[in-house]
Amino acid sequence: MTRGRLALHGHFYQPSREDPFSGLVPPDSGAAPYPDWNSRIAAECYGPNAAAGNFGRIGFDLGPTLATWLRRERPETHAGIVAQGQGHNALAQPFNHAILPLASVRDRRTEIRWGLRDFELRFGHRAEGLWLPEAAVDLLTLRIAAEEGVHYTILAPWQAATRDLDTRRPYRVEVGGGRNILVVFYDGPLSAAVSFEPGMTTDATRFAREHVAPRVSASLPDGAPPLALVATDGELYGHHHPFRELFLESLTNIPAEDRDFDVVSVGELLADPHRSHLPLMAIRDQTSWSCHHGVLRWSGECRDAADGRWKRPLRAALDRLAAAVDAVTEREAGEIGVDLWAARDAWVDVAAEFATAEEVVARILAAGLGLPPSRAARMAADPASSKRLVTLMRAQRSRLAMFASDAWFWDDPARAEAAQALRFAAHAARLVDELAGTHLEATLVADLGALRSPGTGLDGAALYARALRAVDQPVPSPL
Ligand SMILES: [Zn+2]
Repeated sequence: MTRGRLALHGHFYQPSREDPFSGLVPPDSGAAPYPDWNSRIAAECYGPNAAAGNFGRIGFDLGPTLATWLRRERPETHAGIVAQGQGHNALAQPFNHAILPLASVRDRRTEIRWGLRDFELRFGHRAEGLWLPEAAVDLLTLRIAAEEGVHYTILAPWQAATRDLDTRRPYRVEVGGGRNILVVFYDGPLSAAVSFEPGMTTDATRFAREHVAPRVSASLPDGAPPLALVATDGELYGHHHPFRELFLESLTNIPAEDRDFDVVSVGELLADPHRSHLPLMAIRDQTSWSCHHGVLRWSGECRDAADGRWKRPLRAALDRLAAAVDAVTEREAGEIGVDLWAARDAWVDVAAEFATAEEVVARILAAGLGLPPSRAARMAADPASSKRLVTLMRAQRSRLAMFASDAWFWDDPARAEAAQALRFAAHAARLVDELAGTHLEATLVADLGALRSPGTGLDGAALYARALRAVDQPVPSPL
């Protein structure tokens, strides 16, 4: 008789709320009595769960944009989470939470590299698993992840290309080029109940007895112990559902003799060298965990929004801006002897706030660059080259950040999430225009004219002006 296993995974994430022009998080009255949402969710969820030691007893991913804010603003909570992620339980996450199947191939690789490097800087060891933003997946994304050294990910059951998936066991996906990635599909009904039925998570003992034990009581046909994986947004434990950090604490602390299953993380499970040969599974390309219409929620019209006609033109405008930023910055970098893409991949140390711009620029300029050492040294010492490279990298950093999935998730581009995407877009466009004399901002604004906010009737150009108001017409200082 093998004991079943319960694995809990929390996806902890907040987008970057820093204004790219000032670097500050603007106050948000919706988060009252806290000054902004990061502060509020830290008080309700990240802080209490870290204090209870919950991160050490579940599997989790901590989004780099959130982790960067925590390390700067709530260092004790950040340190607690990092200390609790020293086993196999913590996963990395692509840095800016872009929907990878909708991103360019080069952006996917950068997002994954940034996520893995961020994890290593933060946790002090390499990540084995990668949580994909919105669990959005296709075979190419999995292949790039495998090439970058990722061993496993977690997906929703409907992302498997079969009708008879058994979520009680892990699978292996062949991604091409002789590579594999392991996938654990979460228990759909159980995860949905934990996410959306507050009554499920009031009593941990009852939950264990009535909802977990029955799911993991029967062995698998090959005798392997069955698994129930509950994967949810981490913020439900204390923020979406108040005081559920106590539920998590109780559930993961039930004495082993009082329950019929073990509590593990997916990482521990897959790190077990004695695990049996995993069966093969194919995945459904362009699918996700929070849209049942593939990845349409972030790219076009699906039934999740009453009127989603604004989504495609917004993405088209940002895609066009990204292509233009890439063309100009690649050329400008080449003129100072720098490979833009290698430099961009190295910039994560600055984005994650583990190094200054000056340190990383010096490293990039000194890194050989295919130049004779004497010339490389001269370049590295040249203040004009350094300054230009910093500008190019800042433009690339904002151009990556503008693709955070949040702008498309909700019903209306008049919301704060889309405004933040537009500020990142403006920041990238203005840096490039100023450096190279281009007109990327004018093109962006013209392209944004093609979309309209269903709620306010404003077109994209008006939304852009509104998002940039604080930057373009700063409130005069009372002094
Ligand atoms: Zn949808």
